[in-house]
Amino acid sequence: MSLPPWSLGVFTSIDAGLGVHLDVAKELEVPSIQLHTPHAAGRTPQAAEKFLRQLDDFGIELTCVFGGFDGESYADIPTVEKTIGLVPVATRSARLIEMKEISDFSRLLGCGAIGLHLGVVPHDTKSQEYAEVVDAARKICDHASLNEQNVHLETGQESADALMQFINDVQRANLFINFDPANMILYGMGEPIPALKQVGSHVRSVHCKDATWSDQPGVTWGAEVPLGKGAVDMRAYLTTLKEIGYTGPLTIEREIPQDRDRQKEEIRHATELLKQLRKELLGIA
Ligand code: MG
Repeated sequence: MSLPPWSLGVFTSIDAGLGVHLDVAKELEVPSIQLHTPHAAGRTPQAAEKFLRQLDDFGIELTCVFGGFDGESYADIPTVEKTIGLVPVATRSARLIEMKEISDFSRLLGCGAIGLHLGVVPHDTKSQEYAEVVDAARKICDHASLNEQNVHLETGQESADALMQFINDVQRANLFINFDPANMILYGMGEPIPALKQVGSHVRSVHCKDATWSDQPGVTWGAEVPLGKGAVDMRAYLTTLKEIGYTGPLTIEREIPQDRDRQKEEIRHATELLKQLRKELLGIA
């Protein structure tokens, strides 16, 4: 199946992660999803088959599977530095193995892209710590390549400059970007629209998410808010996506699992906003 340009999408989860469940995508008539990987016990061929059947029944296409690991916490920025992705040394080897397993599971799902938050990459690009994270990313890319997959790094935990430097240093042809404009704001890593222009040639998937700036950017969190209510200028965001030639899905990410009804309504509203902008900018209803 190939999706038309700017098909709507929503970030989903099964038993781990904070996305909506698949039935919400169906109810909102969203034709594509990204999936937060299920826990290890749920990454079986049987589970993959069952999920594929559901996708088929619902007429929904899976566009990217995101890795996630036990022990990760987004409680505050210092906790992110300590717990997220492949950066923390204590969990790196185990998570590398797990990310390869997630790549294998994604292959069972027929998915050609895996995504992840790499973590807060060490700033000193001459340091041993930085070299080790580059090496970890290479290992993920090389394994994904065996599964004919691209690897999409989620943006926000570093500036556009640092992300481009990192991608250039990894030197793998299947390493790309999942651009999340709200993360740039939440982490205080720079204005999202100029960042998107800068990294545009590497963007292969995007999140449609909104946020407000912290009064201490980079030190404390900004706040995640419903699409259209925050500091991301959605019209400028989509206009820039058009300028860089991005035609992939527009995947809405809204993670408030504590209130599933509100989550669904906010996503519904987001689909309406995106459809309206898509009609204006691409002429597609
Ligand atoms: Mg995101």
